[in-house]
Order: sequence, then structure tokens, then C-alpha cells
Amino acid sequence: MSSVWDEITGHEEIVSHLEVEAAAPSHAYLFAGPSGIGKSRVARALAAAVNCKSLGCGSCPSCLKVAHGVHPDVHILEPAGKSEYLIGQIVKRPTSGGFVVVEEANRTPFEGRRKVFIFEDADRLSEETSNALLKTLEEPPGDALFILIAESITSLLPTITSRCRVVRFFGIPPKKVVDLLVEKGFQREEAELASILSGGVIGEAYSFITSPAKRARREAVISVALRLPSANPADVSFMAEELLAEARRSVDELRERQRVEIERAVELAASPQLASQARKRLEESHRRAVLKEEQRGFEEVIDGLARWYRDALVLSVGGSPELVINIDRLPELEREAKKSAGRLMACTDALFQVRKLAAFNVNMQMALEAVLFRLQEELA
Ligand SMILES: [Zn+2]
Repeated sequence: MSSVWDEITGHEEIVSHLEVEAAAPSHAYLFAGPSGIGKSRVARALAAAVNCKSLGCGSCPSCLKVAHGVHPDVHILEPAGKSEYLIGQIVKRPTSGGFVVVEEANRTPFEGRRKVFIFEDADRLSEETSNALLKTLEEPPGDALFILIAESITSLLPTITSRCRVVRFFGIPPKKVVDLLVEKGFQREEAELASILSGGVIGEAYSFITSPAKRARREAVISVALRLPSANPADVSFMAEELLAEARRSVDELRERQRVEIERAVELAASPQLASQARKRLEESHRRAVLKEEQRGFEEVIDGLARWYRDALVLSVGGSPELVINIDRLPELEREAKKSAGRLMACTDALFQVRKLAAFNVNMQMALEAVLFRLQEELA
């Protein structure tokens, strides 16, 4: 029989525990582990399981609503502030919008069995917001269930973690990532490349292998690296524009997925009022996701270039080809590796410096242009 847990890749032990616990779950969980490895998916599966008569069949209306983010009793929260949760999200304040966690937790479930509150980026709960949440976490009204998601438990207040059942998530070994992708029907060679490029993070590997934009982006980045040494200044500016377009390419893909998600959510909602609520909530979270994706695109372009010079450096100092990340581009890397290790290292350093800017509001075009000129100086 299929279930909400089928969609989870890896984490068998965690899943087998939660499958059983779903019948009588703890009132608060903390899912901790590196980003991109599937904590949010597991949280959504648990939210579906506790609200399903068959503990997560994956196909009843309740399970489908959770999967599409429109279950009126399952709330996925994100920091509404620039970098943190706002106090008004947790308790009623003049600044509060329509939705306040503590108030909502005190209402009886609308149509499900339990109210579920999933806190993405729970490490962004400040001391003040954490304290506002404490009492509710300790004695949740009714059958409310809280799932906090964070990269590490040390970034949360001990008073919070001590009230949660902590579930630790670990990365999957790269070989296992390859096997899982092959099981899903991808070619082994492609799966190996995706696994190595993503450092064994299954979510990233999957997103690379299924995203034409990300694959095209990687090709474009390598092509720029190959043309750069002999380019004239006008070409370099043009290449920066090219890279900027690549950085933004996956945003278009994301917007298309978001459009479909809103359509589905509206279809599934039980009433026009719930449909408009769901739409509003999704639009808000989509807006944040687009900003994140733009930043990630920029980082991926820089990382792509850095990996290229890192690989060349490995070969240049006599390292084994097995240590190369861009395994499918070995002949070109061997040519690149004829440059001195010092110059290649200066390239990776320059990229490392510009990478740090990604978190700030930099002018990406200018940052890219500046770093390309810097690389060219080293490589010419
Ligand atoms: Zn179900």
C-alpha cells in the first residue's frame, strides 16, 4: 500500500520510528540536520500521517491537502522578518497579521484531527520569540503538534530544545545518493555527476538532475571558464551578463512550479474563502522563495567557477583524477591544469571572496564582472 512516507528518500530509520509514532506523537519535535536533506519533507509526511484516518495513506483528501499545502489545520511557518521570526507571528501584537501561532493553536482543528505547526528555519527564532512560544510548546492546547526544523540544535535556546523530541538527520553517503537516483530511473553516469556536484546532499542532487536550467547553467559556467583567458574586455562584460542570466534562469522554472502549486491549492480548497487564504499564504511564501532562489543562483554560478579552478588546481599539483569533481570534463581540465598552482589558487580565492557577498544586496552584474576581470588577470 502506498503512503505519505514513500516519497521520502533515505532516512529509513527515522521514517520507521515516525510511522509508528504517528498514532500517538510527541507534542513537539525538533528535526535537526544539514539543509537540503529532506527534513521538511519528513515534517510534511508526519503532519499528513497524524491527520489521516489510515495514518498517512497519501491518497485521501486530507493527505492530498497536506501535500499541496492547503490543509486548513497544517501550518507551515517561515520567518516573516528579514532574518528572523517576528514576535507578532507567535503572539498577538499590534503588528500581527492575520495569523498568530498561539491563538491558532488554541482553536479546535477545522477539519483534521490535530493542528500542526511546522517552523521552517526554527534557528531564526530570537530569544524573545522563543520565550513567547515556550508555554505553548510545553503544554500545547488540545492535540496541537509542533515541528521545528533547524540545521543544528545548538542554534536554538536550550529551553526550546529540552521541550522537543530531537530527531537528528544525517547526510546520505554519496554512493547511496547515486543508487537512489538510479532507482528512480536516472542513468548511472548522470547520477554520479549529480551526487558529486551536490556533495552528496540528496535534495540538491535530485534538483540538479531534474532541472534543465541547472544543468544548462553548469555548462554555461564551464564555457565561460574556457573562453575567459583569451577574451577581450568587451567579451568579459558580455560574459558577466551571460552568467547573470544563468544565475536567474532557475527563477523562471521556480515561478512556473509556483503557478501550478497555487492552481492546485485553489482547486483543492473546500471553500472560496479557504482558497483565497491558501493563495495569499502561498504567494507570500513564494515571494520569499524567489528571493532565495536568486541568491542561490548567484552562489551556484560562483561555486561552479570555483569548482572548476579547484579541479584544475588538484590536477596541477599532481592529484589523482579521482579527486576531480567535474569528472565528465577531464581533458579540458588537464589543459587548464598547465597553469601554475599559485595562479589557480588565486582564482579560487577571488571566487571565495565574492561568494561571501552573496548574502548581501550586491549588484550581481558588477560583482561578476569584477571577479571575471580578476580571474582573467591571473590566467592570461
Ligand atoms: Zn490519508
